[in-house]
Amino acid sequence: MSAVAADEGGNAPNQEQQHYDVAIIGAGMSGLAAGIRLAHFGKRVCLFERHNAIGGLNSFYSLGGRKYDVGLHAVTNFVRPGVKGTPLTKLLRQLRIDREEFALCEQRQSRVSFGPSGEHTLKFSNDLALLESEVAREFPAQIDGFRALVAAVRRYDDVSLDAPQVSAREIVGRHITDPLLTDMLFCPVMYYGSASAGDMDFGQFAIMFKALFFEGFARPLDGVRVILRVLLGKYRAAGGQRRMKCGVRKIICRGGRAAALLLDSGEEVTATHVLSSAGAPETFAMIENEAGGEGERGGADRRPGQALAASATPLARAGGHSFVETITVLEEQPDELGWGEDTIVFFNDSERFHYGCPEAQVDVRSGVICFPNNFAYPDGQNLSEGFVRLTCLANPQRWFGLPEERYRADKQRWFTEIEKSARRFLPPLGAGSLAERAVATDMFTPRTIHKYTGHANGAIYGSPEKIRSGRTPLANLYLCGTDQGFLGIIGAMLSGISMANFHILQGSRS
Ligand SMILES: Cc1cc2nc3c(=O)[nH]c(=O)nc-3n(C[C@H](O)[C@H](O)[C@H](O)COP(=O)(O)OP(=O)(O)OC[C@H]3O[C@@H](n4cnc5c(N)ncnc54)[C@H](O)[C@@H]3O)c2cc1C
Repeated sequence: MSAVAADEGGNAPNQEQQHYDVAIIGAGMSGLAAGIRLAHFGKRVCLFERHNAIGGLNSFYSLGGRKYDVGLHAVTNFVRPGVKGTPLTKLLRQLRIDREEFALCEQRQSRVSFGPSGEHTLKFSNDLALLESEVAREFPAQIDGFRALVAAVRRYDDVSLDAPQVSAREIVGRHITDPLLTDMLFCPVMYYGSASAGDMDFGQFAIMFKALFFEGFARPLDGVRVILRVLLGKYRAAGGQRRMKCGVRKIICRGGRAAALLLDSGEEVTATHVLSSAGAPETFAMIENEAGGEGERGGADRRPGQALAASATPLARAGGHSFVETITVLEEQPDELGWGEDTIVFFNDSERFHYGCPEAQVDVRSGVICFPNNFAYPDGQNLSEGFVRLTCLANPQRWFGLPEERYRADKQRWFTEIEKSARRFLPPLGAGSLAERAVATDMFTPRTIHKYTGHANGAIYGSPEKIRSGRTPLANLYLCGTDQGFLGIIGAMLSGISMANFHILQGSRS
């Protein structure tokens, strides 16, 4: 995978202006959104990004003359114009973006498919009524429980920054008693947002349940680069600065505050506030007491980062599992192959749904099939080629450290296995593998994710336990993004906005 610069050249640093009101670590969705918000309110803000492309986990890259999205299956949380008070509408308002600028086009229809070849199906769309009718059809005895669960999710206050963590399995179990239906609901929710295995915090469950089923899926025709272009344009127009290929190596701590950032280049910059989207354990590991030379290592009080990372608190742990994804480019549109109905398919072939870190490199028992072509694009437009993206759970440790040749061979082998597994849940295509029809393929592993985003273990959903307040041991250092607790692209942007509002702008807005 070769990342390309989504924007050309950051603003050149001015040696005399190395103090910022706010320094943001990372130019992913959360960092960009926080930056726009802060720049709108006149803060002198600079984004520091280690790579040459913006977007982080949701960037894009060029390979063989084609542009590929790194992460985007669908923008979740889609609501139609006029629906108020939802994450999408809040973020558009806070970032002063017209909804037309994102050019979001709705999904056709998606489904959860369980059983060795998809014997049990629940279809869903951007209208909750379809899922409700599907549950009533497939699980008539559970429909009242399902409605009660929907009501419980609706009541849940997902913007509370200090909600206690509770087991989602326990709360769902109060309403739904059929393990098959339970697993069929957990499968998409976990695949699109759970950093923990088996169970998840009910707050995270509720956020994702709303994002997927109450709201829904959409996508700009040209993918994530449309969204990134809008964000970068707003950031620039508001006067935000950015330094690309400019990683932060250490956060130097003095008197309980982030006193300076030591950049990869050896340069130091200072900021009144620091907002980090690098992830909780990754950020804590960067904190270094000014006096903390080699001889000081291990002094817990002097090295809050290491002390936190090594402590028993799960707040500083990276998630154990990650994902692999295959991308197959076809001359035909999925429609022409009889695959035009589904936008996204969440599948599982086993009696129970297992979500977590597999023993093997990849777990092909379950996964996600995404057809970026199968959105309702306007005026008969579509992507010029057919795309199939297949995602499965992966064990990061079994991918890291492999010699290059073995790594490539393993990718090849799993590419075939993943396709074989996913094809069971799609209408038959006749003889031959998908790869034989492909005009191009690509695949990424936890190793790729780690390389391009720095996330420990190549984790997409960050630490299993979130720090909703965004607070860290340092008074002027805050977290935003995945480890703050909002999920997906829209969640990441909202996280950046809410952390900027809560910690930096509150009381200083004009
Ligand atoms: C394969 C895949 C599929 C996905 N599918 C979807 C989807 O369909 N829909 C959806 O809504 N979401 C999806 N997501 C999730 C979504 O991409 C993320 O939730 C979101 O982009 C996270 O944004 P963030 O700002 O929190 O973090 P990140 O995107 O990780 O941004 C952090 C940034 O910080 C930079 N950084 C890290 N350390 C440093 C440092 N020390 N110095 C400087 N810079 C640093 C990184 O390079 C990165 O650019 C997917 C993710 C992946 C990987």
